[in-house]
Amino acid sequence: MTRHLRNDWSVDDEDAILETIDKWVEAEVRPIAREYDQADEYPHDLVEQMKELGLFGATISPAYGGLGLPTSTYAKIVTKVTAVWMVPSGIFNSHLIMASAIERCGTEDQKAAWLPEMARGDLRGGIALTEPNAGTDLQAIKTRAEKDGDNYILNGSKMWITNSLYGDCLLVLAKTDIDATPRHKGMSAFLCKRGEGYDVAQKLKKLGYRSIDTCELVLDNKRVPAAALLGGEEGRGLQQVLGGLELGRINVAARGAGIAEGALQMATRYAQTRQTFGKMIAEHQAIQLKIGEMASRVAAAKLLVDDAARRFDSGERCDMEAGMAKYFATETGVYCAEEAMRIFGGYSYAPEYEIERFYRDAMLMCIGEGTNELQRIIVAKQYVERNPA
Ligand SMILES: Cc1cc2nc3c(=O)[nH]c(=O)nc-3n(C[C@H](O)[C@H](O)[C@H](O)COP(=O)(O)OP(=O)(O)OC[C@H]3O[C@@H](n4cnc5c(N)ncnc54)[C@H](O)[C@@H]3O)c2cc1C
Repeated sequence: MTRHLRNDWSVDDEDAILETIDKWVEAEVRPIAREYDQADEYPHDLVEQMKELGLFGATISPAYGGLGLPTSTYAKIVTKVTAVWMVPSGIFNSHLIMASAIERCGTEDQKAAWLPEMARGDLRGGIALTEPNAGTDLQAIKTRAEKDGDNYILNGSKMWITNSLYGDCLLVLAKTDIDATPRHKGMSAFLCKRGEGYDVAQKLKKLGYRSIDTCELVLDNKRVPAAALLGGEEGRGLQQVLGGLELGRINVAARGAGIAEGALQMATRYAQTRQTFGKMIAEHQAIQLKIGEMASRVAAAKLLVDDAARRFDSGERCDMEAGMAKYFATETGVYCAEEAMRIFGGYSYAPEYEIERFYRDAMLMCIGEGTNELQRIIVAKQYVERNPA
């Protein structure tokens, strides 16, 4: 296979980057996706290849050893990888959300200490916000961080945390002041390493998005140095985490578009090989209506993702656009996965045909990074604000 080391890539070379990704996913990702998904096995070899490709540093600044790719290029990479298998994109996506929080909010010492290793993929991370009783309502989290001399003592639990078993570190959201009003003023974020700041209680069994390590965590009197406090100031944790949401939403939108495109491609191929009543099913109008609808929605989803990403890169306000892209592209993922199942007929239920994996994986994107219920509410509020009577 052709594999380029990250130094061969330049920000101006989007076509070459995307061609490299295409070759990599076809040669290395597609052949193993089904087997690893069925076995719920972590793809360690792909992680090594992603390190070589530079994907763990894709959006980290070159000053810290990353590629510094624009969000618009990064989103296209995410879509391409996810169109084949969502797991590899999840491994570098959650990691880069943590890296982006460090780059935006960290002290110079924290950036220098964490980002170069993260850009190489030698230190791989994620974000630990959700708890057993708090997901959408993050201000209700119970995890405590109490100052003790030059340290903080962490106590609590986290739920559904991706990259927490085979990754090395997490950005952990905790309460430094449980009586603060408003509640977010008592929230802080900590840069924690596995073992030092948290332990894995169990790897969770999941409907889809298998193979990736999503776990329940326990923080039992974990002692981290005061230098682990992101930005060095208490009370800013929620803002620091929410400040990365636009980027997070664009990333998840790109994954939704990838699921949708992958399902469309598989269904289109199948429809040209399966015959009923003497002709390919692609020639039946009922199937054509499905493919026409799916192809139109995929194109619209990709345009929305690209529009939000370009606005983000230019520094323009893009909260509403990122919300629209996240909502529409991820719903398109679910829609296309389901329509593809119908096109595959009975064979949709056979793992050999792989479309069932897309069907199982798609729904998660409607839930993560702000549920789609919340997304529409956010879009509506911003739309009204931008259009006063
Ligand atoms: C496979 C997987 C991987 C994950 N990875 C991570 C990770 O790496 N890190 C992490 O921190 N979290 C992770 N999560 C958690 C995920 O972010 C949460 O599940 C999500 O934020 C929703 O929270 P919840 O499950 O507590 O649902 P709830 O908040 O309980 O919501 C339940 C329902 O109520 C609706 N709802 C809630 N509040 C409102 C409101 N005000 N108005 C209207 N509707 C509302 C929601 O939209 C939803 O439909 C992961 C989850 C899964 C399943």
